[in-house]
Amino acid sequence: MKFAIFGDIHGNLEGLQAVLRHAQDQGCGNYVCLGDIVGYGANPVECLETVRAMGCPVVRGNHDEGAANESMLEDLNPLAQCALLWTREQLTREQRQWLADLKLVRQVRDFTIVHATLDSPGAWAYVTNRFDAMASFSYQFTQLCFYGHTHAPRIFEKEDAVRGARSLETPLQKGVKYFVNVGSVGQPRDGDWRASYAIYDADKQHVAIHRIDYDIETAQRKIIDAGLPPLLAERLALGR
Ligand code: ZN
Repeated sequence: MKFAIFGDIHGNLEGLQAVLRHAQDQGCGNYVCLGDIVGYGANPVECLETVRAMGCPVVRGNHDEGAANESMLEDLNPLAQCALLWTREQLTREQRQWLADLKLVRQVRDFTIVHATLDSPGAWAYVTNRFDAMASFSYQFTQLCFYGHTHAPRIFEKEDAVRGARSLETPLQKGVKYFVNVGSVGQPRDGDWRASYAIYDADKQHVAIHRIDYDIETAQRKIIDAGLPPLLAERLALGR
């Protein structure tokens, strides 16, 4: 049984479609979404409806929350604020309610999913080092947990101590816990512009991050055409 685990789509339909195609080609029969479906990109409605139609487990991200509510924009940078105000106008009340109703943490089969952190999932802190990861591990009751939010793929392992794994592809070993950042479909920030997601092979007990080319020019043009800040289009190519 293979799971495709993806998140931080941010309204980038070209990225989402490329990831879903790739996952299907890889034989993934199960899909899991880590949130931030909307915000930044020009296709929030299409991305939301694509994910919703899949009927897969989804957790809420901070941009989903920002698009669903009237408040909460103070915490975001000006670019994100601008994009979220635009995004709110695109979504129907019913679509915003669907985002608002998403849970923050879920267990799917034998693993856990969360957008940001397990220690305080609604506070939207970033797990960028092993100390942050350590805090999440204290609340991780499955061997494996997937998260996003930083837009940079990373695997943390906890055996006796917590360490960052050297590779973005790893067999799961007994007695070791894994906290896996799957990276971002729609706005990677690790210097690589390609869409990022993870495949978990439950039979082989193996996790791997995949990077996928997509039609970035179309995604960029749509952002410009929508009247969103051009910087949001430019940063897609930089992977920042
Ligand atoms: Zn995000």
